[in-house]
Amino acid sequence: MAHPLMHTYGRLPVAFSHGRGAWLWDGDGNAYLDALSGIAVCGLGHAHPRVTEALREQAGQLLHTSNLYQVPLQEELAAALCRRAGMDGVFFCNSGAEANEAAIKLARLHGSRRGIASPRILVMDGAFHGRTLGTLAATGNDRAREGFGPLPEGFERIPYDDLGAVDEAAGREDIVAVLVEPIQGEGGIREPHPGYLEGLRARCDDNGWLLMLDEIQTGNGRTGAWLACQHEHVVPDVVTLAKGLGNGVPIGACLARGEAADTLGPGSHGSTFGGNPLAASAALAVIRALDEDDLIARAGRLGTRMRDGFHHALDDEPAVKAIRGRGLMLGIELDRPCTELVQQALDQGLLINVTAQSVVRLLPPLVLTDEDADRIVEQVSGLIQGLVHDTRY
Ligand SMILES: *Cc1c(COP(=O)(O)O)cnc(C)c1O
Repeated sequence: MAHPLMHTYGRLPVAFSHGRGAWLWDGDGNAYLDALSGIAVCGLGHAHPRVTEALREQAGQLLHTSNLYQVPLQEELAAALCRRAGMDGVFFCNSGAEANEAAIKLARLHGSRRGIASPRILVMDGAFHGRTLGTLAATGNDRAREGFGPLPEGFERIPYDDLGAVDEAAGREDIVAVLVEPIQGEGGIREPHPGYLEGLRARCDDNGWLLMLDEIQTGNGRTGAWLACQHEHVVPDVVTLAKGLGNGVPIGACLARGEAADTLGPGSHGSTFGGNPLAASAALAVIRALDEDDLIARAGRLGTRMRDGFHHALDDEPAVKAIRGRGLMLGIELDRPCTELVQQALDQGLLINVTAQSVVRLLPPLVLTDEDADRIVEQVSGLIQGLVHDTRY
């Protein structure tokens, strides 16, 4: 059908009419197992009763008043998030990119207060931090940046998972922060070596830099801990959340600790919609459901189950270079481009993603049943085997 949407997405030829848990249905009644969750957004799956109920209730009361007034639900959510993340303050916005923009502005203000006229932030090759000009400048993907210059300055790009590169940068007086994903998502589910985050923490402490973790994809329980950095017992100064926070209701958050939490003051930053009663009620419902059903621990167990399943099915395939990830954030890297698997999976009633050309990315909802987890492993393994043994290639 002709439509006036800008062509910013290569969309698949399917539209969904409703969902339940890990399943979606199209208008013709065909069912699809969702191993992507709207890109790590619907961690509780679709139409979760608790979220639906909270939204219904709140929609009948109050949607929005602006941040010119007290917003008790926003305060309650901030306290719940700080408790879980070990942070002291939260700024709410509506997306991941905005959460990172807040972090970038916070770091710059932090630097400028220390007399650094042109503060710089260390960012990583292969990173993804968003599509606004600032977060695009921080993103380590030349193709995403191409044609959008001049981009904001103030970012120093170094290789990911390389503490030596951090040490080299440490000589520079104008660095104020490190912005990094604990596991790179769009970059191909890249996990750094154990000790990397801890090493970053130590270097930030030594140099007076802020450690700023982009947990927009890894956060909200997806990896089997509330934050991925908690697996390594590393506490950042700033952490950003979005995606899974509202289970589909747009909400982002920039959390900070200690001195960093007091950096942004009245007039220095803002958002009209950020943390409005509707979005806050959704996020509170998400947190309650994660807790009550012990879904974060479940994500960890399911992830182990799926990884074991993939190893069992694919370890003898030379074309499979790596099976990576933590909890329900899994990547299978092939030795060749494999974007056609997305359509092939769709034809079989399975929603998956391919990122960085050759990495099958799976981000299923945390409410996934064991049977559906096994089904994803079986189908994805079959698709990969079909691709690598197809004599046409
Ligand atoms: C998705 C994502 C973003 C951007 O979030 P938007 O809501 O699309 O702006 C930033 N960082 C990471 C790690 C992400 O996965």
